[in-house]
Amino acid sequence: MTECSSQWKELWAGNHAILANEQVGADTWKIALDAPELAERAKPGQFLMLRLPECADPLLGRPFGIFNADVATGRVEAVYAVVGKGTRRLAALKPGDRLELWGPLGNGWNAALRAESTAPKRLALVAGGVGCVPFYLLMKELASGARYAGTKATFVYGARNAERLCCVDEFRALGLDAALVTEDGSVGKRGFVTAALPEILPKETAPEDVQILACGPTPMLRAVANWSAGRGYECWTSLESPMACGMGLCFSCVVDWRADDGTWDYKRACVDGPVFDAARLKWD
Ligand SMILES: Cc1cc2nc3c(=O)[nH]c(=O)nc-3n(C[C@H](O)[C@H](O)[C@H](O)COP(=O)(O)OP(=O)(O)OC[C@H]3O[C@@H](n4cnc5c(N)ncnc54)[C@H](O)[C@@H]3O)c2cc1C
Repeated sequence: MTECSSQWKELWAGNHAILANEQVGADTWKIALDAPELAERAKPGQFLMLRLPECADPLLGRPFGIFNADVATGRVEAVYAVVGKGTRRLAALKPGDRLELWGPLGNGWNAALRAESTAPKRLALVAGGVGCVPFYLLMKELASGARYAGTKATFVYGARNAERLCCVDEFRALGLDAALVTEDGSVGKRGFVTAALPEILPKETAPEDVQILACGPTPMLRAVANWSAGRGYECWTSLESPMACGMGLCFSCVVDWRADDGTWDYKRACVDGPVFDAARLKWD
């Protein structure tokens, strides 16, 4: 196990034992790892890379949001949807098996959160599918009053259907306001997450009082970004751009980013993000 120095001061890389790996929804699994060094460093909205040891197929690690990190026990959890070879192999692993892990990576929600003196009155945390993952640690902080103590926060969580909403009981147990939305109406409001936003943030809510944080598939992020822009609301999105190294070396995850003078530049989603001001991204 290696504590990295130089430019990756906060990064931990090691080979860690799996404590649990269980199905928590349709094609969705939760994996728990014994990784005390990572638990100590993880901040809300950051991610980690997981790689199967001594495996050449897939050779590269895969990025996953950090769902929960418990400093007292050293347990770190990620929740993943099975979509391809890497995640299929991940789902076949058993407690006691080991995984290569590096992290925590990325800027996390700290990039978006304001100073307490200018905290918004209303905060909407908008998640689609496994986009719920990076919100759990943040919601723990909000629920404890450690962040945005005077802010009314609402978790808006959408998926195709009830089976694809995962960890709902864990989110509910935190005690924050939650609105569930499903495309087929099997639970909560029928439609897309944007259908729930006007009720939570009525038109008369002043733009400076609102902040929206969103994570999920790109079409959902685009819809939330456009809805927010239409109301003049500040919106930050956590991107899930495919990436290879997670450490800023390979440039496979670059996104178009608009500078203050209106010119376009590239930013790496792994080290400059994954959390970006939605108003600076290209959504078409
Ligand atoms: C910062 C970050 C955080 C993430 N957090 C999570 C998380 O918490 N839970 C989770 O389930 N997933 C998360 N992802 C996505 C996850 O990394 C991919 O689903 C995973 O790498 C797929 O690996 P695979 O080998 O199973 O699929 P592959 O065999 O590599 O690909 C299978 C299919 O999925 C598509 N695909 C692969 N990666 C992505 C992607 N990033 N976005 C959209 N489509 C993709 C491919 O184009 C292909 O069609 C995150 C991605 C990033 C960049």
